[in-house]
Amino acid sequence: MEFLPIFYSIKNKPCLVVGGGEVAARKVALLLEAGARVSVVAPQINSTLAELAAQGVIAHWAEPFQSRHLHGQVLVIAATDDQSVNRKVSEDSQQLRIPVNVVDNPDLCTFIMPSIVDRSPLLIAISSGGQSPVLARLLRAQLESIIPVAYGRLAAMAGRFRAYVRQQIAHPDKRRQFWENTLQGRLTELVLAGKDKMAEEYLLQSLKQEKDHFPQGEVYLVGAGPGNPDLLTFRAMRLMQQADVVIYDRLVSPEILNMVRRDAARIYAGKERNRHTLQQESINQLLVRLAQEGKRVLRLKGGDPFIFGRGGEEIETLASHHIPFQVVPGITAASGVAAYAGIPLTHRDYAQSCIFVTGHLKDGTIDLDWPQLARLNQTVVIYMGLLGLSVLCKQLIMHGLPDSTPAAIIQQGTTQKQKIVIGTLRTLPVQTEIEHLTPPTLIIVGEVVKLHQNLAWFEPAQQVPAARIIATNPGPDT
Ligand code: SAH
Repeated sequence: MEFLPIFYSIKNKPCLVVGGGEVAARKVALLLEAGARVSVVAPQINSTLAELAAQGVIAHWAEPFQSRHLHGQVLVIAATDDQSVNRKVSEDSQQLRIPVNVVDNPDLCTFIMPSIVDRSPLLIAISSGGQSPVLARLLRAQLESIIPVAYGRLAAMAGRFRAYVRQQIAHPDKRRQFWENTLQGRLTELVLAGKDKMAEEYLLQSLKQEKDHFPQGEVYLVGAGPGNPDLLTFRAMRLMQQADVVIYDRLVSPEILNMVRRDAARIYAGKERNRHTLQQESINQLLVRLAQEGKRVLRLKGGDPFIFGRGGEEIETLASHHIPFQVVPGITAASGVAAYAGIPLTHRDYAQSCIFVTGHLKDGTIDLDWPQLARLNQTVVIYMGLLGLSVLCKQLIMHGLPDSTPAAIIQQGTTQKQKIVIGTLRTLPVQTEIEHLTPPTLIIVGEVVKLHQNLAWFEPAQQVPAARIIATNPGPDT
């Protein structure tokens, strides 16, 4: 984060704008909206500013900028077209530790002005850290179109009742649940329909009902997909905003974890090979305990919770304790990673079926139905197979697959760190070693792997050239 986003109160505080043109006038208008006492320093000012000065709304010093103008100011904006003046304003302000913004010159700023969506008292500020103001403005336009104007009234209404609700519902978790339920339900509909009086009555009525009711805990077993946040479902996103506590696995990427409600407590449940941070049984019991305390518990798992995710065991325990739960499917590694690697899992000509197995190595062997896997016209997707890769390839060959069968291993698929190695059952183990692949990796075996050559489309930021050469993939950029 380059800047700390804060909302700064300048109500009745002296603020200075240096410059008298149109840009300066826009900044003055903004400061006035936030209740500031604005002074403008500029030898000449445009008609808008002159009128404000005549009405006594702003003060005007009709002279060039001097350091003494900074005296007592809490915020300064320089908007002149003379860069030497702008620089002086910036330097003098910084010396006095007064926050300063120079329009269109991030280097001279100690704060920058975001694009805003104003639904006062609700305010959304968007910044690109000065990198692309246009992108921030485009995003702002999108938000403007989806956030109803009435949200301002809704926020104000919630504000009026805030203290009263706090007094009525002492428990913070319970109070937050009350607000979440109310604001996502009929109350908002009524305000949007302009029926504010009815909305207020409804709020008081819900509050009465809610008061003595102990919050019911619940567990959301949610699939977070294979790593790329774009592959989350809408439902996952919504529940991620409602959780009081999140228990997550190693496979859940930091980007995704960042999207969980900021105040939610975070518990790492680990599951690295041979380093089980929490044993499965303790996780099951933890879910029960937290839900019994009335918490909304987000159990966030990589991929899909019902595919090699032990999700079933976790909800069995919940069911036996009569704890409400819901399950949200996620994109499993096989489909997510295959899609981002440009390898269709089935194909009219090459594979009429696809099978998902775990290649978990135990005591040097893997317990799988090899004859069933070593069939032609079938794609085999192997989860957790990195350590057992040589055993896997050897067994498939021993059970009848040609050693020239195409095979791929993909590390951190769908993410910016995606790395693909393409070879055959004979070559893949050595190639993988050379490339130093690390978990999580997914192995795909079958004729469909050949299609990668023409169908690869995703270009991660940190593409590793060696992997591409081995992959004999010309790639879309060559
Ligand atoms: N429930 C998960 C699988 C958990 S088992 C799902 O549905 O995807 C963990 C294994 O998933 C890893 O060892 C790896 O084989 C695979 N995996 C998960 N995410 C992956 C990714 N982004 N890239 C490659 N493999 C991945």
